[in-house]
Amino acid sequence: MSYFVANFAAQFAPVRVCFGAGVRRQASEEIARLGCRRALILSTPQQADAAMELAQEIGDATVGVYTRATMHTPVAVTEDAVAHAALVHADCLVAIGGGSTTGLGKAIALHTDLPQIVIPTTYAGSEATAILGQTEKGLKTTITDPKVQPEVILYDAELVRTLPAALTVTSALNAMAHASEGLYARDRNPLSTLLAVEGLRAFADALERVVAAPSDLHARGETLYGAWLCGTVLNQVGMALHHKLCHTLGGSFELPHAETHAVILPHALAYNNRAAAAELTPITEIFGGSNPGATLHAFARKLGAPMALRDLGFKEADIERAADLAISRPYCNPQPVTKEDIVTLLSAAWRGDPPAF
Ligand code: NAD
Repeated sequence: MSYFVANFAAQFAPVRVCFGAGVRRQASEEIARLGCRRALILSTPQQADAAMELAQEIGDATVGVYTRATMHTPVAVTEDAVAHAALVHADCLVAIGGGSTTGLGKAIALHTDLPQIVIPTTYAGSEATAILGQTEKGLKTTITDPKVQPEVILYDAELVRTLPAALTVTSALNAMAHASEGLYARDRNPLSTLLAVEGLRAFADALERVVAAPSDLHARGETLYGAWLCGTVLNQVGMALHHKLCHTLGGSFELPHAETHAVILPHALAYNNRAAAAELTPITEIFGGSNPGATLHAFARKLGAPMALRDLGFKEADIERAADLAISRPYCNPQPVTKEDIVTLLSAAWRGDPPAF
């Protein structure tokens, strides 16, 4: 089946992408290729060792290592990092880590326009987008700006070998959520659909192999390939109900990012399958079954993903407020969004039941 639609616009960012086990060792060449000589390396505190190792690898072109990247990109950390980048006269950024570290690099770039090299270690996909989410005083906001789009991505399968099994699965479901909602995005185009389908296929092929053998570099590489494709879809088209719910639960109830995506995805897809069954067909073609929500619910369970919002610390008493927040600003979604339906969806997700729709 062709993914042609009669009217569409497509835009791709000029990003250099390199794949390969050990490709992080190419960072010095990529710094030089950008015309830069003074790199500031970024990481979370948990990945400081990986950052220090990279700094040594880069050698003289390293002018600093900043290891305070934090989930949801707090503005206070960004301000401190921007000051640090100025202090060491950095002329480029090298972020090694997941979406939190990538987010810090993007936030610094927003203020300084410094070019970014990202070396992803999860499947979140932020490295492929011009989107930045940041938090200030408990409020999470999202902006899209070409300044935050990273210039170079080095996908090194060796680095995801250390991703814990639980985060491997939830992060993969986070990536698959970008592709899944891309299938029914109002502004989708034939290429975004191709990327989404191939991204989902990559995870269908490789994720179980990675869970069975976390050091399987070929399978790890294929999951990174899926992450790149799914992240590129996120950069191309608008997201809908699933992302709105996760944004609400993460931003206002402090639920963990990847785990929340993993729990909500089957429920959101079952909800939207009523209005977008044809668009979601690739999911059942790839993963089997007849309802994409039920299919991904079974897939997630088989891989040991968290299944219930209550296990992530979300309180049943907060369901009403979350539903109010999730419907407070209208957005495009295939199936009309009502508070009653969202309460039903969240209640099933809270208990860990199969999708209610
Ligand atoms: P993360 O970056 O917060 O990583 C979670 C933890 O795992 C951290 O402690 C990290 O140091 C550690 N870790 C990461 N990779 C590891 C590895 N290979 N080995 C061992 N430990 C590792 O988690 P995430 O899910 O990648 O990112 C979540 C953040 O990214 C959220 O703030 C989310 O909003 C953002 N995000 C943004 C976009 C975008 O396009 N702007 C897209 C997706 C996610």
